[in-house]
Amino acid sequence: MCETTFADLTTLRLGGAPTAVLRCPTVESIVDNVRSLDAQKTPLLIVGGGSNLVVGDELDDLVAVVIEADEVTISRDGDDVVVFAEAGAVWDDVVKAAVAAGAGGMECLSGIPGSAGATPVQNVGAYGVEVAQILDSVQLFDRTTGKVEWVTPDALDLAYRYSNLKFTNRAVVLAVRYRLRADGLSAPLRYGELARRLGVSPTEAQAGEVRRPAARVREEVLALRRGKGMVLDAEDHDTWSAGSFFTNPIIDEAELADVHTRVVHHCGDDEADSMPVHPAGPGRVKLSAAWLIERAGFTKGYPGQGAPVRLSTKHTLALTNRGCGATTADLVALAREVRGGVASVFGVRLVPEPVWVGVDIDA
Ligand SMILES: Cc1cc2nc3c(=O)[nH]c(=O)nc-3n(C[C@H](O)[C@H](O)[C@H](O)COP(=O)(O)OP(=O)(O)OC[C@H]3O[C@@H](n4cnc5c(N)ncnc54)[C@H](O)[C@@H]3O)c2cc1C
Repeated sequence: MCETTFADLTTLRLGGAPTAVLRCPTVESIVDNVRSLDAQKTPLLIVGGGSNLVVGDELDDLVAVVIEADEVTISRDGDDVVVFAEAGAVWDDVVKAAVAAGAGGMECLSGIPGSAGATPVQNVGAYGVEVAQILDSVQLFDRTTGKVEWVTPDALDLAYRYSNLKFTNRAVVLAVRYRLRADGLSAPLRYGELARRLGVSPTEAQAGEVRRPAARVREEVLALRRGKGMVLDAEDHDTWSAGSFFTNPIIDEAELADVHTRVVHHCGDDEADSMPVHPAGPGRVKLSAAWLIERAGFTKGYPGQGAPVRLSTKHTLALTNRGCGATTADLVALAREVRGGVASVFGVRLVPEPVWVGVDIDA
């Protein structure tokens, strides 16, 4: 085992030791390392910023391949701006550079930790924008065929916090191209809380037609995210997390009546009337995981001072390491408790958002 552990490689700062850590400063070194490990049938984990990983305390043989190739270029292509980023570029540096270059479309994704290469993996999203909306093409090293090729987003089955790269390990993202607006205006402001701060009315936000200067929107997004502990800060344990720990549950419309009845029973009519419910495609609706967690009795900071792992004191959707001897086992125990509580009170099953390695919430 090597001296570096996954506690050093992840934002949760938890996890045991890999057998080795291979740092890859160039795209060629990523391909060479993955190709030879695959040929030897050595299990490996691709690691970017480690901000969406839950890694077990004890690991079987596993090599961490850390993606560090980080070149970024910004150029004009007709009426558009094209941003090229190698997979290891720090995502928020890419957003910052694009906004500074006067390009619009990425600003709502400001402050999301991790690497550019991981953005298509779970189709990162925030404040009403998903990376799918700005993806031009993705360069993949296909681990089955051994080919390096550029693919268009339709090859990735992008959906809410999902692509066919997530959980499958079928390919490594080597580089990404994003296509942005050259007029410096943001994506349409659809997310209520952000729109309000930028002087956009709820009706305008619903229509989704108002844009603002990207630099201004980036500032507001970063301020909002900081208030929720969603921008990394080594001094703030509320940010020692994997971000939102559960996805917002998507259920059949037919199941909504039962959830509503349970909310009335548990929280009363007023709460039931204010339960967030959003359309999520034909016959489906999306609920708010944070709202359900809180109403099930798991308040901010749960289970309280002194616990090694707690819900963030700023946001109930983040499970956080408090820096006092926490283990992944502690984190998993809290995740199971929260998931079990929401299921028993509201009959809704929460699905974890991060990728789990060497540990399983269901085991
Ligand atoms: C404080 C905080 C806030 C967050 N907020 C958001 C948010 O608003 N929206 C959101 O969508 N997510 C959010 N996240 C989750 C996370 O930041 C994103 O999922 C991010 O894209 C993960 O990038 P990473 O480089 O850290 O990936 P890692 O955690 O290193 O890896 C995640 C998964 O992607 C795979 N992977 C990584 N790089 C590559 C590659 N180059 N090729 C193939 N596979 C790869 C890994 O093998 C692993 O399976 C947040 C996390 C934190 C800690």
